[in-house]
Amino acid sequence: MSERVIPLIDQRLHRRAATVPAQAVAPTGLLGDALGRPLRDLRISVTDRCNFRCSYCMPKEVFDKDYQYLPHGALLSFEEITRVARVFAAHGVQKIRLTGGEPLLRKNLEILVEQLAALRTTEGLPLDLTLTTNGSLLTRKAKALKAAGLQRVTVSLDGLDDTVFRAMNDVDFPVAEVLAGIEAAQAAGLGPIKVNMVVKKGTNDDQILPMARHFKGTGIVLRFIEYMDVGATNGWRMDEVLPSAELIERLQRELPLVPLDPTAPGETAERWAYADGSGEIGVISSVTQAFCGDCNRARLSTEGQLYLCLFATEGHDLRHLIRGGASDAELASAIGAIWQGRDDRYSQLRASLPPETGEGKRRVEMSYIGG
Ligand code: SAM
Ligand code: SF4
Ligand code: SF4
Repeated sequence: MSERVIPLIDQRLHRRAATVPAQAVAPTGLLGDALGRPLRDLRISVTDRCNFRCSYCMPKEVFDKDYQYLPHGALLSFEEITRVARVFAAHGVQKIRLTGGEPLLRKNLEILVEQLAALRTTEGLPLDLTLTTNGSLLTRKAKALKAAGLQRVTVSLDGLDDTVFRAMNDVDFPVAEVLAGIEAAQAAGLGPIKVNMVVKKGTNDDQILPMARHFKGTGIVLRFIEYMDVGATNGWRMDEVLPSAELIERLQRELPLVPLDPTAPGETAERWAYADGSGEIGVISSVTQAFCGDCNRARLSTEGQLYLCLFATEGHDLRHLIRGGASDAELASAIGAIWQGRDDRYSQLRASLPPETGEGKRRVEMSYIGG
């Protein structure tokens, strides 16, 4: 019988209790971290489960039938999520992205969307409310999500060739169903739609041009993401990363592009327009070009741990405050103090950091805190 290697350290255990500071940090919408970066974007993971097993995110060997997902009682309820999100909005958050795991697996998600859609920014405006999904359930859910107040969706799709796509999601899921999901989202008015493609050199880089040709002129913005060293289970290697500069060069040979200015500070994608005016694409160069300098994103895990960086090894436990009777003012102070102490900039430091040893603290998995 072959022996399976199970990771010994569960990164979810690394957490520190969030505490209410002696000095109140009132929400003014002007919060800055230790490097002067504001807090604008909150990504909320609503489940740690997924119906795909993308090898770069939830490899089958680790996320198998014995994997211990969080029990339902550990998950923040919709009311708890909405309460925390309201406090974040008071601190200056303008954008909320629901993610996972696969967010559409969370039962009755449209109820949460409805609650979040009622929140307002410090300027009294609705929040920019969006969701990242693998698209597998969109044909069923797009209309209800739109009716609940969701503005847009980002769909992940790693190729158009059915064989390549089925191998990437590793559960034999057909590409046609994701394409149907994208169409359903478009028909429901969940746009402008973005499509995210993670590029793994040697695995799906032959899909770059077919994907670009397919979405060019449709109003859908295709974004190519460099395969990242998130988590500790995907066996990441630098030689499987296709640098965005090289990807742009490959595209340019067939589809001339011109660079566009960023629309907002802290934007992760570098934008390019087709020279013939038929739309735009983006590249997210998380590995070759760090964008930590204006990173304004916080991440809330499914069970209420606050992460300050995608590559964090430790979360701040907000759930014990939420369930321990903390007032909104106390919760705001705790979150404010945590953000004020933030100095994370992993991507900038990546090259000078020692490689992960597998001992001690492990980086948190993307399926746990979301992308
Ligand atoms: N299940 C949903 C989905 O796939 O869209 C939402 C969660 S998923 C973790 C969010 C995004 O992270 C997806 O676009 C996915 O492709 C991306 N992602 C996951 N692992 C990655 C990695 N190692 N490098 C780059 N992007 C990754
Ligand atoms: Fe699931 Fe999304 Fe991770 Fe793929 S990237 S395994 S769809 S959570
Ligand atoms: Fe932000 Fe961390 Fe990514 Fe840098 S590495 S951009 S700080 S999430």
